[in-house]
Formats: sequence, C-alpha cells, structure tokens
Amino acid sequence: MSEKPRHVRLLELAVETSSCTDCRLAETRTQVVFGVGSPNARVMVVGEAPGANEDEQGEPFVGAAGQLLDTLIEEIGLSRSEVYISNVLKCRPPNNRDPKQDEIDSCKGYLVTQMELVEPEVVVTLGNFATKLILRTETGITKMRGTIYDWWRGIQVVPTFHPAAALRGGPEVTDAMQADFVLVRSVLDRTE
Ligand code: URA
Repeated sequence: MSEKPRHVRLLELAVETSSCTDCRLAETRTQVVFGVGSPNARVMVVGEAPGANEDEQGEPFVGAAGQLLDTLIEEIGLSRSEVYISNVLKCRPPNNRDPKQDEIDSCKGYLVTQMELVEPEVVVTLGNFATKLILRTETGITKMRGTIYDWWRGIQVVPTFHPAAALRGGPEVTDAMQADFVLVRSVLDRTE
C-alpha cells in the first residue's frame, strides 16, 4: 500500500485532534485550533496557544498578533499561505492564562507529528513556551533569540519574541523580530 500524501495525513490528524479530550482545556474551548498553511511549507511557525479570536474562528494567529506576524512573513518575501502556522497548545487556555506543563505534555505529540509531516527547513518559535519546548531549554527568549539553532533532522530553529510582546513592548521588540526573520530568510537562501 502506498503512503498517503502529507496533506491527507495532516487532514486526518486534524480530524483526530478535533475531538481530543486529553486535557482540561477540552472543557472550556470552543474548538480545537489545529494549524493552517501549506503542507509543503519550508517555514513552520510555532506560537503559544490560541486566544479568543482563534478559539472562535478555528485558525491560529487571526487577531492583532497575527497581523504583525503576517507582516513579518511578508517582509521576507513569503506569504501566510506559504508557511505552516501552529501552536504549542491546540486549545485556548481560559482567560488566556499561561499553558500548564501537563497541558503541554499532553499536546506536544500533535506538534511533533505536524513537524514530521510538514518537514520544514526552518521552525520559528514565537516566545518562551514554543522556544523552551522545542529547544529543550530553560533559557528565556531574550537570550535565545538572534541565533539560528541546528536542531533535529537538519531543521534549523530561529527563536524570536512572541508578536503579542511586540504589540505591548514597542518598536525595539518589532525590530528584533524583523532581524530574526532575516535569519529565517538567510537559511532559506542557503538552500534555494
Ligand atoms: N497567540 C498565539 O500564541 N497563538 C495564536 O494562535 C494566537 C495568539
């Protein structure tokens, strides 16, 4: 039997995830926010968890933070539909509180499978939760960003601030994020 194409396997995983009850967030979410974008993306972006808009619409980064993310993506010559966007948690934590460790532990298998299926060249981790999970570090994002990390299966990881931090923190944070996205471009340009 031939292997199913990756877009089909992603769709099957999305269907499986949509009824997940592995953690308490199943009780308060409106819907699971699985991920969006090209199954063949060269760049995968990993955020923290859906917020209110995402929980309502079922798509990651559709609010104000998402608009900034789209701009950063476009500034390096890509479009939102060319990248793959997902989160550490697939369900909204009530009142946008921080993810709890047991929630991250029960959800991370979905993210790992998304990465195995998409096989991106670069993973951009937005903020502390995604960076700490993927790079298995306790070091905060302020120290981690600005560097390309050689990770797993040849994938490069570029950590940067969460766009919500840029919305709160002002132009220096946005400048740093722009510089980090230039690093993403440089990885893509190596292999193009
Ligand atoms: N913040 C995130 O980390 N993810 C989203 O999808 C939206 C806001």
